[in-house]
Amino acid sequence: MDLFQYKKGLLFAENVDVDTIAQQVGTPVYVYSKATILDHFKKIQAAYAQLDTLICYSVKACGNIHILRLLAEAGSGFDIVSGGELYRVMQAGGDPSKIVYAGVGKTDREIKEALEAGIAYFNIESEAELETLIGLAKQAGKTAKAALRVNPDIVYDTHKHITTGVKETKFGVDIERAQRVFAQYGSNGVVDLCAIHIHLGSGGKTIDPYVNGVRKILPLIDSLRDKGHRIEALDLGGGYGADYETDSVPSAADYASGLVPLLKDKGLRLILEPGKSIVANAGILLTRTLYIKQGGRKRFVIVDAGMNDLIRPCLYEAFHFIWPTAVEQRFVPQKRSKDYAAEGLERVDVVGPICEGTDFFAKDRLLPPVRRGDLLAIFTAGAYGYTMASTYNARPLPPEVLVDGDTFTLIRKRQTYEDLIAHEK
Ligand SMILES: *Cc1c(COP(=O)(O)O)cnc(C)c1O
Repeated sequence: MDLFQYKKGLLFAENVDVDTIAQQVGTPVYVYSKATILDHFKKIQAAYAQLDTLICYSVKACGNIHILRLLAEAGSGFDIVSGGELYRVMQAGGDPSKIVYAGVGKTDREIKEALEAGIAYFNIESEAELETLIGLAKQAGKTAKAALRVNPDIVYDTHKHITTGVKETKFGVDIERAQRVFAQYGSNGVVDLCAIHIHLGSGGKTIDPYVNGVRKILPLIDSLRDKGHRIEALDLGGGYGADYETDSVPSAADYASGLVPLLKDKGLRLILEPGKSIVANAGILLTRTLYIKQGGRKRFVIVDAGMNDLIRPCLYEAFHFIWPTAVEQRFVPQKRSKDYAAEGLERVDVVGPICEGTDFFAKDRLLPPVRRGDLLAIFTAGAYGYTMASTYNARPLPPEVLVDGDTFTLIRKRQTYEDLIAHEK
């Protein structure tokens, strides 16, 4: 479900005509729907209601403090991967006792800050990191809880750069090594190693990797408990699919239908770290058409957003549905999909203004006829859109807008040229 829908040929975000936003705020601009974000969050909550579940929204998907605040108010915890993200969550009023902290390269400073804040779990990726955490906790006179990240060696059908659950990645330790880590560090008196963390990757299209992952991990938990280790929580990470195409991935209820039966009566608190399944299709990127260029047999639609604003198509070969925000009724898309076709569409490449061949949003895509000045929506841009944006080519970062019913709020201003050089003085 999302609340970016056409009414009489005009695209609305909830009850706001997106053209109004573009006119007032300029383009490119990210637009998020509050009701969509909360709907996704509440559906996950409902799906796992039978278990003791903590949902830790993954900040790196979309970290604007206004979005973190509304999730915190809905009861969400947070999955962070840096000290900067910890700072964001605290500024947004997040509850530190609902924070889990992952990442293979936590610095001493970051670990100290998280100890100070009193987060729920450090998700530990190696013995060396655990030793460092124990040392720093001792120094600070603090105790902490940790989850060991275990690699269940699950092959995951996604892009090669975003698979993390197979044996030879830099993430976590394998199952045999996990046994040794618990044997060596399981009762150190400072850091309570009492949970297992797995995170398989991102963008999965079926529930199978999760079901298989849990099936591989439960015997490990049983065996650790047999050896006297108290295991209180299982963190399943994130990576649940998002509908880049209409109804293309399992819903929260689908995942839960496979996972809840396996986890019921196990005496485990379940932690989930969803990112894109909450925010991806709760956001769009609006961009204005600058030029139409015929180059040989190809027709290029050159827009004012670039790969610096949204890098996913270039980095992951990601598909984003793109459509004009104002169309004749016959061109109102019935669904969002790679091969969406209708009478009268034209085949184009949608590209940005940056001097790189990789600066594109779509290749050989059928779109309604587009002219200079037309506003386009790049859909499902709420996750890993703004958070991966850069100022490459000295392009100021775009603004972010949050729509709530029939009002919208600028939740981040567009950068200025002065901002671009502010730290160089
Ligand atoms: C990136 C990440 C997530 C979130 O992944 P999504 O695909 O956005 O759901 C969760 N946990 C960890 C450890 C991550 O690195």
